[in-house]
Amino acid sequence: MPPPFVIPIFIAHQGCPHQCLFCNQRSITGAPEGMVTADEVRETIRTQVAWPRRHPEAPVQVAFYGGSFTGLPMARQRELLGAAQPFLASGQVRELRLSTRPDYVTPEIAGFLREQGVGVVELGAQSLDDRVLGASGRGHSVAQVRTAVACLKEAGIQVGLQLMLGLPGDSTPTALASGRAAAALDPDMVRLYPCLVISGSPLAELYRQGQYQPLSLSRAVALAGRLWSIFNGHGISVVRMGLQPSSSLEKTVLAGPYHPAFGELVLSRLFFNQVRAELSTRSSQQSHRLCLAKADESIYRGKGNANVKRLVALGLLEGVETVFSASQPRQSVVLTPVD
Ligand code: SF4
Repeated sequence: MPPPFVIPIFIAHQGCPHQCLFCNQRSITGAPEGMVTADEVRETIRTQVAWPRRHPEAPVQVAFYGGSFTGLPMARQRELLGAAQPFLASGQVRELRLSTRPDYVTPEIAGFLREQGVGVVELGAQSLDDRVLGASGRGHSVAQVRTAVACLKEAGIQVGLQLMLGLPGDSTPTALASGRAAAALDPDMVRLYPCLVISGSPLAELYRQGQYQPLSLSRAVALAGRLWSIFNGHGISVVRMGLQPSSSLEKTVLAGPYHPAFGELVLSRLFFNQVRAELSTRSSQQSHRLCLAKADESIYRGKGNANVKRLVALGLLEGVETVFSASQPRQSVVLTPVD
């Protein structure tokens, strides 16, 4: 089954009275100020379900992103979710998804969402370390993350966890412990976002005062790779690494490990490690063929062919012919001796 076709609807910062240190929600979503109306929701869905799709058999989801949905007044939640009901009833939309804060989920809320056709809830957990949550001004605890995950699972809703790298008070050991704790909750998917210094956020002020130092790009890529490996080891899908690039985001990033293809950098680094480990096992007396998936060629090569240059510099490609095969599964590395 191909991945779902997602119709995104942004509800910028509506319903959220908090001010996390890193957040300037309008910059992150690129959404204009103002309330999305039910008519606009209907019109967006009507337009986008009619678009020609590469995989017409892919299930269609309507996703309310960008705010803490279950913090909205109930009438407003009903208005927005209600606008999608005719499309659920007609089968044009399979299910709804939304994002919210862990402390805005109770058994009653989870039950209500399920009744309304919500199949996936993404929780902005950000960290599973209470000290890091406190230092980042999140206003919720790790215990509330655990409770929210349990409530959603009990209601039959899939759970996504969003985690942030490089938050105030975080470190590599706490981030890895947080990743392991998140994996133990067995979410259906995870998103990893590096913490950026966004203009207009409280973190920007701390950065100006020298009280906050963001991760460098290379450290963020390395850390995301280690977290990806933790989740992959538990069979948990990491559906995104890095924020969705947008011109409004790029204009407002003051500092931090922003890269428009952050996820690709991480996958490229992981794949380099995998290929290097495989090549390190071969006897240099014997020629070999290195077979990789055609679809992996770009992450194998890395930006500017950097991975290949490093393998050459390490002497690992001497006597090795590299072949890209359309029939080979992705992220597999096959090394065979050649006579
Ligand atoms: S809870 Fe979400 S929307 Fe509210 S301030 Fe924090 S990051 Fe921004």
